[in-house]
Amino acid sequence: MAEYDYDLFTIGAGSGGVRAARISATYGAKVGIAEDRYLGGTCVNVGCVPKKLLVYASHFAEEFEDAAGFGWTVGKRRFDWPTLIANKNKEIERLNGIYERLLGNAGVELHEGKASVVDAHTVSVNGKELTAKYILVATGGWPVVPDIPGKEHAITSNEAFFLDDLPKRVIVVGGGYIAVEFAGIFNGLGSQVTQLYRGPHFLRGFDDDVRTFLADEMRKKKVDLRFNANIARIEKRGDVLLAELEDGTEMEADVIMYATGRAPNANGIGLEEAGVELNRKGAIVVDDHFKTSVDSVYAIGDVIDRIALTPVAIAEGMVLADNLFRGGSGTMDYADVPTAVFSQPNIGTCGLTEAQARETYGAVDVYASSFTPMKHALTGNDEKTFMKLIVDRASDRVVGFHMVGPDAGETTQGVGIAFKCGATKAQFDATVGIHPTAAEEFVTMREKVPDDAKKVAAD
Ligand code: FAD
Ligand code: NDP
Repeated sequence: MAEYDYDLFTIGAGSGGVRAARISATYGAKVGIAEDRYLGGTCVNVGCVPKKLLVYASHFAEEFEDAAGFGWTVGKRRFDWPTLIANKNKEIERLNGIYERLLGNAGVELHEGKASVVDAHTVSVNGKELTAKYILVATGGWPVVPDIPGKEHAITSNEAFFLDDLPKRVIVVGGGYIAVEFAGIFNGLGSQVTQLYRGPHFLRGFDDDVRTFLADEMRKKKVDLRFNANIARIEKRGDVLLAELEDGTEMEADVIMYATGRAPNANGIGLEEAGVELNRKGAIVVDDHFKTSVDSVYAIGDVIDRIALTPVAIAEGMVLADNLFRGGSGTMDYADVPTAVFSQPNIGTCGLTEAQARETYGAVDVYASSFTPMKHALTGNDEKTFMKLIVDRASDRVVGFHMVGPDAGETTQGVGIAFKCGATKAQFDATVGIHPTAAEEFVTMREKVPDDAKKVAAD
């Protein structure tokens, strides 16, 4: 008889957990997985997928306007939120089914229910104890709302995907990915949007020019973007929410959505009792091979709080499966992970910001360009596109790539490969462009931004 019920038991059937479980099973391991909420996890149910569908929906308003310049007359328009949400829910149910089949076809046994760790080789699901040679914790994260009076009246992105109606007035709190994406979604769909960010400039960690450029574009699209602003308390008066800001300003809204970060889902599931170390932020501490402080317990994805992106969780799951069941000893390469923010317009970025590049390499050359995309030559839409390359002067390697513009994520995915190959500016220049595209700008930028211009801008 086998020593354990499973070779691997995974807690959480999200992006990372499903990949690790499925691949391990295809390598011949006996695998069980527990999921207490929804197959596919955050990304499929309340993250990347429904978010992108809502982003698509919200673009139509501008597309209808833009069509006029090309000779189209678009008739009377009406947007129906319940139809969008119902269609989105149907698509997600389809994806949930696909995930169930993927697991089943790979031979992974699914246990529906909340799992917790009992000891180094035992988990409990719905009161039933199961043993495993290895336990993988891939429980993701959960939104955090700061502890202010009236916080119970606020929603997070989790609830935003299931609102009964499109709110007329929305306040979005936060200045990260989710906040800018949802400000764009609600604004595009017709809500009056105010976005509040507590600091002097949102999207901390992104290139400064990108942050400024996006802020300008969002304001042009009528998002009321306020920096150095935060809510002190929320009151509910009938159907209306009253937000009192820290500076005493009062604002009314129908929905107040907090996008103020997500915390690792690592509490109350027996981890610390079993000896699994958590860090100050409550994330599971792992080594380069995703091993926790308990030899047989591993963790990947948002719960380890490295880079909270689906493709990263999936890549971590692949590395782990290879190491545990195919004799691998690989580690995850977190360098130059490309990323996109589905703001309006999108941000795409890979590598270092200009400030980070200057700190790392000292002398860098910067190439930047902002222009009206060809489409808008006829539309009258004043949206602009921005592109920027940062080059290490000594090696000529492109160390930073930034774009704000339509489909920036698509362009960035391609450039990400060049990045991984360590492409130099000379190699970018030697690449023949595709005309007419916006992306060709990346292989035709020749004029350096003078160092002096940067100094003047900073002054
Ligand atoms: P999750 O996908 O969160 O999966 C964890 C799973 O574990 C969940 O299904 C949960 O129910 C389950 N679980 C938790 N505890 C237990 C338990 N005790 N027992 C059983 N099951 C349990 N990333 C991108 O790359 N691109 C995007 O465009 C993007 N958009 C996003 C938009 C939003 C609004 C949000 C919130 C996130 C977005 N992300 C995006 C981030 C991405 O969703 C996460 O990085 C990714 O889902 C992390 O995968 P994971 O496997 O670590 O966790
Ligand atoms: P982020 O960590 O990206 O942003 C959180 C924002 O909330 C920051 O602007 C932060 O400000 C602010 N904030 C934090 N605490 C408070 C507070 N107490 N009061 C006011 N503001 C506060 O988290 P998100 O929730 O936006 O997203 C979580 C993660 O999910 C992202 O980091 C990303 O990895 C992933 N994601 C990826 C997407 C994509 O790939 N397109 C889309 C959506 C999410 P400050 O900067 O000052 O700390």
